[in-house]
Amino acid sequence: MGDYGKNQKNGGGQGRLVMVLSILLAAAMLIFFGINQSGKKETMEKEPGETEDTQKPLASREEDTQQEENDGRYEETVREADRLAASYDYDAAVALLQAMEGYETDTRLKEKVKEYEETKAACQPVNMEEITHVFYHTLVVDPERAFASQDTNPQAVGNNQWMTTVSEFEKITQEMYDRGYVIVSIHDLVRATKDENGKPVYEQGEILLPPGKKPYVLSQDDLCYYHSYDNYGYAARMVLDENGKPVCEYIQEDGTVLTGAYDVVPLLDAFLEEHPDASYRGAKGIIALTGYNGILGYRTDESYRNVDGDLNYDKKQWLARHPDFDIEKERAEAKKVADAMKADGWEFASHTWGHMKVGDASLNRLMTDTQKWRENVEPLVGGVDTIIFAHGQDLGDWGAYDESNPKYRYLREQGYSIFCNVDSNQYRTWYGTDYLRQGRRNLDGYRIYNNAVGLQDSVSDLFDAAEIIDPERPPVPPLR
Ligand SMILES: [Zn+2]
Repeated sequence: MGDYGKNQKNGGGQGRLVMVLSILLAAAMLIFFGINQSGKKETMEKEPGETEDTQKPLASREEDTQQEENDGRYEETVREADRLAASYDYDAAVALLQAMEGYETDTRLKEKVKEYEETKAACQPVNMEEITHVFYHTLVVDPERAFASQDTNPQAVGNNQWMTTVSEFEKITQEMYDRGYVIVSIHDLVRATKDENGKPVYEQGEILLPPGKKPYVLSQDDLCYYHSYDNYGYAARMVLDENGKPVCEYIQEDGTVLTGAYDVVPLLDAFLEEHPDASYRGAKGIIALTGYNGILGYRTDESYRNVDGDLNYDKKQWLARHPDFDIEKERAEAKKVADAMKADGWEFASHTWGHMKVGDASLNRLMTDTQKWRENVEPLVGGVDTIIFAHGQDLGDWGAYDESNPKYRYLREQGYSIFCNVDSNQYRTWYGTDYLRQGRRNLDGYRIYNNAVGLQDSVSDLFDAAEIIDPERPPVPPLR
């Protein structure tokens, strides 16, 4: 059990590992092909109308092709180093350039290394107590479908209160970026070591950012595409595109299926592709998953096997519409998507299997629920050390968790060491001796609307709600 939490720490690290490996591969290729800058000058610009090297002997043409390939790799490696430096990983950027063949005599590369080192020297450690954590649910793709019939349909009201639209998410992300916000991994907040007895010790981590940049953690809850979301204008599931990158399937009202960026993951991926400096060393968000309806839109839960059992209406309906249901296929597909997300820097967390109220639940119920998560979700996303409580509940009051709290002790034994709730504070982080707690802020319809109309002032440090609110969002009623 001791290494369980450690495994997951690599969830976030895994993406970075993949990145580092590909960088090393690129460097190795450069060395292999014996690139040097002086060779570059031999590539000549062609005059207009000149035919494609036909006058040259074949061997010379092959050399030219080789040279072009080498130049391409040289430029690609420099671009990769720039990208690493843009995402504040100056050491990796420097190491990449220094590993290039001919570095010692290449003034351009040396200049770049100097520049990276100067930028790094200007970075400052951020205040680890002042890292805000924002979260979203599944995004609304079509506000008309999600918000229709506010007067008569309680679910439409729920959609309006708890959900953020695609356009709001995009505007918030842009606005936070413009204000200097940078996504960090929640694992960057802690430095986990062990004491002389091998017991884990958590201390504040160190995050170095240029002046004016502010770190934040991002999470998304319930990325399961519950049956109850059907026909309300949400994406239906996550799939991989032709490049193996996670995207969404969205089923239009007429039943036709679109594939593209219809939720947080692909939208943020695209944003970070354009703005590598919006993420600290490749960090993305934390995806908090329940298990009862499966994950990522795949019906992976054991309960779907039991067609005659006490399946709820949603599940029965779904199984009736999918007579070819094969749980192993669903699980394999879900795992493929989860693996691709992890390779891209996304991390996973438990949101409890049954979206349970951990504060109200008995220890027994918590244990049953946790085992279901371990059996049905963990094999697909890997072990996790983070639990994001549902319904904003918590195991205890804010402050140090009490070791005499049996639910806390149980979750610690199960490998959880990072605990998040919802408190809507600007920032609230608690460093325990061997665990971390963080409060989160919901950037949902309720908060956006109330800030936009001036009933609350709880997001102005992040964005101007009146500017970003979706014009198609109806007034959000007070919570009951
Ligand atoms: Zn939830």
